[in-house]
Amino acid sequence: SREIHLISRPHGMPTAANFATVENKLEPLPDESILVRNLYMSVDPYMRGRMNDTKSYVPPFQLGQPMEGSAVGEVVESRAEGFKAGDIVTSMLGWREYFIAEAQALHPVNREIQPLSVYLGTLGATGLTAWAGLNLVDVKAGDIVFISGAAGAVGNVAGQLAKLRGCEVIGAAGSGEKIDFLKNECGFDRVFNYKDAPVLEQLNRVAPDGIDVYFDNVGGASLEAALAVLRTYGRIIACGGISGYNAEKPAPGPSNLFNITTKRLTMKGLIVSDSLNLIDEFHKEVGGYFQAGKLKNRETVATGIDRAVEAFLGLFDGKNIGKMVVKLD
Ligand code: NDP
Repeated sequence: SREIHLISRPHGMPTAANFATVENKLEPLPDESILVRNLYMSVDPYMRGRMNDTKSYVPPFQLGQPMEGSAVGEVVESRAEGFKAGDIVTSMLGWREYFIAEAQALHPVNREIQPLSVYLGTLGATGLTAWAGLNLVDVKAGDIVFISGAAGAVGNVAGQLAKLRGCEVIGAAGSGEKIDFLKNECGFDRVFNYKDAPVLEQLNRVAPDGIDVYFDNVGGASLEAALAVLRTYGRIIACGGISGYNAEKPAPGPSNLFNITTKRLTMKGLIVSDSLNLIDEFHKEVGGYFQAGKLKNRETVATGIDRAVEAFLGLFDGKNIGKMVVKLD
């Protein structure tokens, strides 16, 4: 079985040289344990933070150890109660083809829901992030919601859920194809390519009356523009700041932060794992929309563990539309 290890810590943008593929011999299955073959694994921007040796809300990846991340797999053999061969499970043991774990590391999921990779995206951590983010600042019908990174995994679901709530939704993304996806498949009301002209200029054009909510996936110039355009009592969901993840020196903060005071804005930080206790409610609501065909599930799929690093690095070049996943063959 192959697995991907972190072998050195990047400065700035990571490269393939920071990773190594390691062949691992599977031990005989101990009592109370389960052998799982991963079918799909997730690559996510937050993993960039875990490559640094700094204290944060998740511990750093260890050098010479396999990377971690969410995955969907199939039980090959089980010596634990409650699991049998053929069961489909999610875990945090991605970046490897096979693994052995005990029951508490696995979460059984319904195999009838297809594609199973949806448990990494729309019905997984990024979908939960989108849903929890909207709830965090009580997004409701009539709100004008601006989403950056809108064509990504979190952004497209946040926008579709906001539309289902009766909001007016504005999205920014980095290519013409992404803009078409948002407009034609996700039902966004107004969209722009943030690479075409300064964000503030474009946001002023598409939101002449301002915005009520900013769902921030990127930080930087988009956050600064949103601060300028938010209405009085507006809310910001501080979800991500990908524009700064590879910065070698911290980028300067928004020059117009004082808008928080003058416009009495609320800015709330979000970490998805805080919402894991709401997973049943999330599956009921968002899984319901998905099964009813009310939620488009877009994925960009790389095939083979050999492509995992490239897929991960591609997130920082905007290579994905919807959720970036790796299918393990
Ligand atoms: P995405 O699927 O959105 O993938 C990343 C996208 O970010 C790329 O496709 C690219 O799209 C965009 N991007 C890359 N570099 C830049 C840049 N310099 N400026 C602006 N956009 C850029 O990833 P996710 O949906 O998984 O995550 C979105 C954000 O949410 C990330 O910041 C992530 O860290 C955060 N997040 C936070 C969580 C939490 O608990 N707080 C949980 C999950 C995600 P484009 O072509 O449009 O540039």
